[in-house]
Amino acid sequence: MKARAAENTQAERRREATRLAALASYKILDTPPDPAFDVITRLAAEFFHADSAALGLADQSRVWIKSSWGSDVREVPRENSIFNLVLAGNGPVVVPDIVECASEQRPTYLLHRRRAAFFAAAPVRTPDGQILGALVIVSDAPRPTLTLDELRTFETLAEMMANLLELHKLRAASPHRNAPRTRAQRSASPKPWPRCNDLRQALERREFVLFYQPEVDLISRRIVGVEALIRWIHPERGIVPPMEFIPQAEECGMILPIGDWGLAEACHQIQAWNRNDPRNESLRVCVNLSARQFAREGLADHVKSLLLQSGASSSQLGLEMTESSLIPNMSTAVDVLAGLRTLGVSLLMDDFGTGYSSLNYLHAFPFDVLKIDRSFVARLTEGHQPRQIVRTIIDLARALGMDVVGEGIETHEQYRLLRQMGCRYGQGFLFARPMPAAKITALLELPGRLLPESPALAASQEPPHPAELSA
Ligand code: C2E
Ligand code: MG
Ligand code: MG
Repeated sequence: MKARAAENTQAERRREATRLAALASYKILDTPPDPAFDVITRLAAEFFHADSAALGLADQSRVWIKSSWGSDVREVPRENSIFNLVLAGNGPVVVPDIVECASEQRPTYLLHRRRAAFFAAAPVRTPDGQILGALVIVSDAPRPTLTLDELRTFETLAEMMANLLELHKLRAASPHRNAPRTRAQRSASPKPWPRCNDLRQALERREFVLFYQPEVDLISRRIVGVEALIRWIHPERGIVPPMEFIPQAEECGMILPIGDWGLAEACHQIQAWNRNDPRNESLRVCVNLSARQFAREGLADHVKSLLLQSGASSSQLGLEMTESSLIPNMSTAVDVLAGLRTLGVSLLMDDFGTGYSSLNYLHAFPFDVLKIDRSFVARLTEGHQPRQIVRTIIDLARALGMDVVGEGIETHEQYRLLRQMGCRYGQGFLFARPMPAAKITALLELPGRLLPESPALAASQEPPHPAELSA
């Protein structure tokens, strides 16, 4: 204990005080378990075939296990724990066989109450390098030390954990920032127009149209799909964007017939593009579904019959859903999604990151594609932290086997950063604005469906005038 006493210098105490202040700023120790962390601990355990894995965050005397896999230990004393070894050092600690290791490296407290043999621990740090705790893996039997590649993967997982903590901190700073508005809040804001009847009439008078926005492969600039985005061509008001009428349609139930119209229209468009050029059969056409549509009894059968009526193949249809449309239907969501998946349609999680608990359900739902919300893309160039968050989302999606689409790409810098971070697909004004089907037909005729580099392309696509729609 002499060594410990020597360490307890004033400088050491100051460092620890700074570290504890950093930890406190995350407001994390007394929050309920966050399933997002479990995605990473599970990944760590599975990747390294470990018996258990955990994230532990250390205060002065205890280590709080915020997430674990294969262990039900909730806290351990900090002294003589694996975590303390990391807090004292500079990098990861790997001990292939606990019996063989030097006594000062032999922790008493692991994750099991029984004896463990192998362990590895990597620091989980704040962006400015303060060690909050560690990601650890533990096995009952001795095993070889980690290879350099394995060590790098392990550190990446610890970094992903750190990024999730940042996300948690952002949320804690403004817990209601992204909370859905309550019914009372919605009815308090003046929204006299449109009424349900206006929407019904609009549907009868065929005033809705679908615009389509290309989704591109960020490496080749090939158009891989399009997203259908509804517009209301109002005789007096001109082009009305969806945010001005979808919420009301949702509230009064008109979203169901409007949504049906949209799905049928998109399916017919798939057929028209295929007829125009059979190579378009590899194009995916995505349609947005709202909460009420998602909650509809027999949704999968309904989609199936729309596909049959139009003759479109399910492999060309994508359905986009936001987390907020899943949450009210949580108890049935997994089954509904599984039913849709059986049809062969692709499932896309839209606006990822804006929901209240986005990461929580990611691994529970069978999504094929995750679309990073454009608010994250917009903040990409604002510094290190927003970039780390996007990077975590991309890494996590890829680790769960999903494709990633960056939404709302407006600048070359956002494009470059996303591509560099391994985001494969993108959508945004930089490539093309939403446009009428006829204009998409022309883009699909480009050789290899490759969008030209010229920035003039996006610039020339100012929101079209209603007159263009008859084109
Ligand atoms: P979303 O599904 O996230 O669609 C993407 C929105 O981002 C579209 O807005 C698109 O025009 C816009 N956008 C695309 N690239 C950029 C960019 O680079 N910068 C910026 N600032 N915006 C970009 P839009 O068309 O106004 O649609 C808004 C939302 O309305 C959609 O968000 C979707 O949630 C909903 N929506 C649209 N069509 C339908 C529909 O047919 N049914 C349902 N239920 N909802 C729809
Ligand atoms: Mg969408
Ligand atoms: Mg979106």
